[in-house]
Amino acid sequence: MKESRYADVVIAGGGASGLAAAIELGMKAPHLSVLVIEKMPEAGRKIRATGSGRCNISNTGAAGYSRIMKFFREIGLVTKAYDNGLVYPYSESAADVAELLFERALSLGVNFAFGEEVMSVKTVPADLVADPLPGSSNVFVINSVFKDRDGLENITTHASFLIMAMGGKAGPTFGTIGDGYRIARNLGHSVVTPVPALTGIECEEWEKDCSPCAVMLGGTRSAGVVSLYKDASHNFGEDTKIFEEAGEIQFTKYGLSGICVFNMTRHMRYDRRGGESLDDFMVRVDLFPDGDIREFIRDSRTGAFSGEPIGELLCTVLKGPLAEYIIRRSAEGDAEAFASRPVSSLSDEEAERIAANIHTLSFRPDQIRGWNDAQVTMGGVSMDEIKEATSESLLIDGMYITGELADRDFQCGGYNLSNAWITGLAAADSIAAKLQAD
Ligand SMILES: Cc1cc2nc3c(=O)[nH]c(=O)nc-3n(C[C@H](O)[C@H](O)[C@H](O)COP(=O)(O)OP(=O)(O)OC[C@H]3O[C@@H](n4cnc5c(N)ncnc54)[C@H](O)[C@@H]3O)c2cc1C
Repeated sequence: MKESRYADVVIAGGGASGLAAAIELGMKAPHLSVLVIEKMPEAGRKIRATGSGRCNISNTGAAGYSRIMKFFREIGLVTKAYDNGLVYPYSESAADVAELLFERALSLGVNFAFGEEVMSVKTVPADLVADPLPGSSNVFVINSVFKDRDGLENITTHASFLIMAMGGKAGPTFGTIGDGYRIARNLGHSVVTPVPALTGIECEEWEKDCSPCAVMLGGTRSAGVVSLYKDASHNFGEDTKIFEEAGEIQFTKYGLSGICVFNMTRHMRYDRRGGESLDDFMVRVDLFPDGDIREFIRDSRTGAFSGEPIGELLCTVLKGPLAEYIIRRSAEGDAEAFASRPVSSLSDEEAERIAANIHTLSFRPDQIRGWNDAQVTMGGVSMDEIKEATSESLLIDGMYITGELADRDFQCGGYNLSNAWITGLAAADSIAAKLQAD
């Protein structure tokens, strides 16, 4: 069966940016019929998973922060900003945020079609249609499919405005598998190749399950500084450092993780066609960023514990598994024999090797974790083709591209949701303004 319907505005995707746009339209232009088409059975599935269930909703340093806070005040969401700039809902419940957004949209008269997947979009000049809504020179013909136990239903929706809010490819279990890219491409937009970001990295040193990294370090967390180097000639000198951040480094069963590592992955894009590869990157970890460990190691050779085994030298400086790993990695030859020698027997060269490993422990990335682990997509619809202030397509009048679908991604800390809210609000405000002007 084929159903046909009309809405003044269709929002494809009921995630963060789609919900913000829907509510704003409901408040600013209550006379419009607004339909959100969402392929999942409910709105805001991904929002529920954000901030480990707490929803890091914004950041005091995010672009448009005061506008975003005004919106949340208007819809009755109380937030709390912490000293580090991170903003959470006061309840610290991501599910509450998703629920509140959906309820507000419903109460403002927004319609939802759940379990319905947008498959394709075409445009028809508005002057070919009877009674077009003023403000857009196009009418959008949106084809979608509703699936249930009884089979498939094809639905065609005509709309005067379209907000493409289908997200990127990160977190596919929340409905985002990159549909928006195909649809945008078919409408003439260019898409910067999407790659996963804000995710962990797998390193060569973990290659085998029985490698010391996997066995000793898996599950260990440590404060430190991670640095990223990029150099096609693989020299990785100080001048090739492209990123550095302090934070908690998580050594997992596959490699490195933690917020500072997540942020680092945003700098690991490489041009495969241009001959670049992940081999051109090197990660270094400083496990003692507050000073120089050299003095401590040298002094230990003559101090009260000079007779202790080298294997125990670092037990007050680093977590046990890390201390053991550094000693092993600093040994040349039989690691066990090295670890059991007295600290007093350390040569200058050996002491220097241990210090260097603590300050510049190097890892070779061989894979960036995939879409299932990534929090955002790097890449998307080219920003050269989107009007930044309104989120409107520069190619198609009346079409808007919001949130992660566009080629815009940010570090951890509430910036990506901020981008979703602010671009959704901008699209809605632009539509409301166009209608007022006409
Ligand atoms: C686990 C996790 C935790 C995160 N935590 C944070 C955090 O704490 N703070 C932060 O700032 N950012 C966080 N992010 C990132 C943030 O959630 C996203 O950047 C943001 O949700 C993007 O909003 P969006 O509207 O562009 O897309 P989404 O919120 O992803 O919504 C897109 C919607 O479109 C629907 N859709 C897709 N294709 C179709 C189709 N063909 N037809 C109909 N519907 C479709 C999807 O089902 C989805 O509901 C996190 C991401 C993940 C995966």
